[in-house]
Amino acid sequence: MGDKEFDIIIIGSGIAGLYTALLARGVGNVLILTKGSIDECNTKYAQGGIAAPIGRGDSPQLHFEDTIAAGAGLSDPEAVRILTEEAGDRIADLIEIGVPFDTQNGEVALTREAAHSIPRILHAGGDATGERIEVTLSRAVRASHNIAVMEHCLATEITVRDSVAQGVVAFDSRVGSREEFVSSNIILASGGAGRLFKLTTNPDIATGDGIALAYKAGAEITDMEFFQFHPTALRLPGIPPFLISEAVRGEGGILRNVEGHPFMLDYTPDAELAPRDIVARSIVAEMQKTGSDRVFLDVTHLPRRTITTRFPHIYRFCLDHGLDITRGLIPVAPAAHYMMGGVKTNTWGETNISGLFACGEVACTGVHGANRLASNSLMEVLVFSKRIIERVKGEAIAPVKASAEVSRLALKKYDTSGIKTPLRLAILQSLLWDDAGIIRSKDKLEEAALVLAAWYDTLQRPTDRPYYELCNMVLVGRLLIEAALIREESRGAHFRTDFPEPSKAWEKHIVFCNEA
Ligand SMILES: Cc1cc2nc3c(=O)[nH]c(=O)nc-3n(C[C@H](O)[C@H](O)[C@H](O)COP(=O)(O)OP(=O)(O)OC[C@H]3O[C@@H](n4cnc5c(N)ncnc54)[C@H](O)[C@@H]3O)c2cc1C
Repeated sequence: MGDKEFDIIIIGSGIAGLYTALLARGVGNVLILTKGSIDECNTKYAQGGIAAPIGRGDSPQLHFEDTIAAGAGLSDPEAVRILTEEAGDRIADLIEIGVPFDTQNGEVALTREAAHSIPRILHAGGDATGERIEVTLSRAVRASHNIAVMEHCLATEITVRDSVAQGVVAFDSRVGSREEFVSSNIILASGGAGRLFKLTTNPDIATGDGIALAYKAGAEITDMEFFQFHPTALRLPGIPPFLISEAVRGEGGILRNVEGHPFMLDYTPDAELAPRDIVARSIVAEMQKTGSDRVFLDVTHLPRRTITTRFPHIYRFCLDHGLDITRGLIPVAPAAHYMMGGVKTNTWGETNISGLFACGEVACTGVHGANRLASNSLMEVLVFSKRIIERVKGEAIAPVKASAEVSRLALKKYDTSGIKTPLRLAILQSLLWDDAGIIRSKDKLEEAALVLAAWYDTLQRPTDRPYYELCNMVLVGRLLIEAALIREESRGAHFRTDFPEPSKAWEKHIVFCNEA
């Protein structure tokens, strides 16, 4: 095997990339390509925790029911069954690797989050769950002699011949050179695309590269219209939308409008614990009603110790920005948070391209449907990464075909001759936020679709990382907007004012494929 040839190549070093690499140690030589330093990823910022039905009174069946309910009719029951049945074992794996989950009276501590019927969220370092996981896994990866990690290496192409993956082309952004790597097992673990939107909880790396790479390679991309907006990101001038975890509402935080009125019961009997899409839209409605760009999250009634021990990271961050949340209200507003759609996989992480797998936020396994249940994403990563490696090792039984009816489509063509809007990152992000954000409509989506199509037609050959990422974002933005236009209904995280109700006819998935 040459020095550019590997048994497995993994793109990304968040929880999906690192955990998969650790599981793959027994398979052979593993290469992780990651576009920044090893710990630049969404994972590091995860606060609330990771869902597993391991507490007293809980069961995989209960977790299954909550997940299916949140998915608003589009979750794949088989994928959800696998998630909830295998979750307990994956927690045991993380504990064995050394993730220091918080405990209470000698047992793993569990908290409750919105739309979970019971406390089942494990956390570490209070609200530093993602950081503790990332640090533990990256340390274990560094200590493994057969895992090579190439930082600042941006994957720019997945090479495919006759529908079989051959390797990865990467751009080393430190020296500006192009490298080619060969493998018959390529695992996309490149995370989400929150940076498509002006306001997001995601860090800079979340530019949807994996979706663009997979689409260009001929992989199926599905459910792109479903993007979750987190209801409560900190809204302070000059500060990026720092996440105020769902668990803060789970512990009793109350949402108040700018006049001090606790408004959630006006919208839903589940109040603060309703699913994220409902809370986010209620907040938007309340902001419009009061003419404000924010509402407030109130935890001042909670014991000070609960706040400082359960949410040390949030407490400290706010304090550093002049806000003592034990005494004052937290200004919040929704922000783009999680990509439910992605590269379509079966329950073994396989895509329609032989040898190309996907796991983590870049993948669409069918678990989340139209809306992700809080803290299910970290667990989804673990369960389906493990299954990919079982498949690579040949231990897995024949793949189960992903269920649900699909419409397989190519991107629409437009006459873009009249469009003169210059392509700039900030303009793209505002366009997506304004026209394809929490509240959507045909007119706005069409406007945005045209601009993105015009940009797409004039993209140049990239020669640096920011431009590679911008090109990817144009393509991923197009996939999202086209899907949002096609889905003429409202369901889960996708809400259209011109089709405000769910439609039975739309209990199916939209799939894009370059070769459709
Ligand atoms: C603020 C915040 C809080 C969250 N809280 C929770 C929570 O409490 N519970 C929960 O379950 N989920 C939570 N989530 C979601 C969850 O953290 C993510 O879905 C999950 O961490 C994704 O893991 P990943 O490995 O798929 O992607 P990431 O962790 O984002 O890793 C992606 C990796 O791919 C690399 N990469 C991307 N493109 C390329 C390329 N072209 N070439 C090479 N490398 C590339 C990136 O640099 C990065 O290393 C939260 C997310 C955020 C942003």
